[in-house]
Amino acid sequence: MTARIIDGKAAAAILRAHVAEIVSGLDFRPGLAVVLVGDDPASRVYVRSKDRAAAQAGIMARTIYLPVDTTEATLLAQIAALNADPEIDGILVQMPLPAQIRLDAVLDAIDPAKDVDGLTPVSTGLLLAGRASLQPCTPRGVMHLLASMELSGMRAIVLGRSVLVGKPMAALLTNAHATVTIAHSRTRDLAGECRRADLVVAAIGRPEMIRGAWIKRDAVVIDVGINRLGDGRLVGDVDYAEAVLIAEAITPVPGGVGPMTIACLLENTVTAAIARRQLAAA
Ligand code: NDP
Repeated sequence: MTARIIDGKAAAAILRAHVAEIVSGLDFRPGLAVVLVGDDPASRVYVRSKDRAAAQAGIMARTIYLPVDTTEATLLAQIAALNADPEIDGILVQMPLPAQIRLDAVLDAIDPAKDVDGLTPVSTGLLLAGRASLQPCTPRGVMHLLASMELSGMRAIVLGRSVLVGKPMAALLTNAHATVTIAHSRTRDLAGECRRADLVVAAIGRPEMIRGAWIKRDAVVIDVGINRLGDGRLVGDVDYAEAVLIAEAITPVPGGVGPMTIACLLENTVTAAIARRQLAAA
């Protein structure tokens, strides 16, 4: 028996269609601003696909390209302008940023009401408190993929503790009543910790490091990792060929978590747009 494949492409298409349907029923067009500093080729690809996906969902997308030597002050001024712009409901600053710009300064500057990446300290705090918030897109996408599963009481492990993926992922699973272990580069006996888990979420950025023998039989495996090998192949953090023989369900790479991230960005943009207008009308 091999694992059931969790099809993120199909799930993302459903979510994107749902977002487009909501947008078509609105009497305004939600607006998303994506700011890209520098000319990192991978970031350009991401930004273009966000742009295209937004347009397909009926969202007005505005991409702002800034040169690689942009100062922090210039970027913060740009963010302030977007915060004040009534046409813009969501602001996303593409990472990574050049060295002269502090990520924390950027996150502190974004209006939490427009924080469609869910990474400002306000969004992070609300998430930790278990309150309604704009959630980081990748962990939110994982929760969509797990929506049909009973997470309550499940023993889950999140591999990785980044602000972008690991920490919010652990908070979302905790809020869904799973019993969550967070593992990272200092964790002793990573394999042993994994083997105890009914749900493994891998977000470490190490190609195929999680071996099949680390997976408990019939566990659910969510592979957030996206790693490009020397031969050009994209692989996850999990050794898929091994894990698919052990797990009950597994996400492939590509075609698993990846497509959900953009779909959740669109979802967050519409959520933010509606919430802002409700607040303005109250
Ligand atoms: P980071 O590099 O920010 O964080 C990696 C985390 O993994 C850290 O907490 C680190 O531990 C931990 N780690 C690294 N090596 C090991 C190890 N050998 N054993 C145990 N833990 C380890 O990465 P991100 O969270 O941003 O991304 C993780 C992966 O997810 C990447 O492959 C990235 O490409 C992918 N990704 C995919 C997305 C998608 O849309 N599917 C979106 C975002 C990311 P420590 O804190 O101790 O250093």
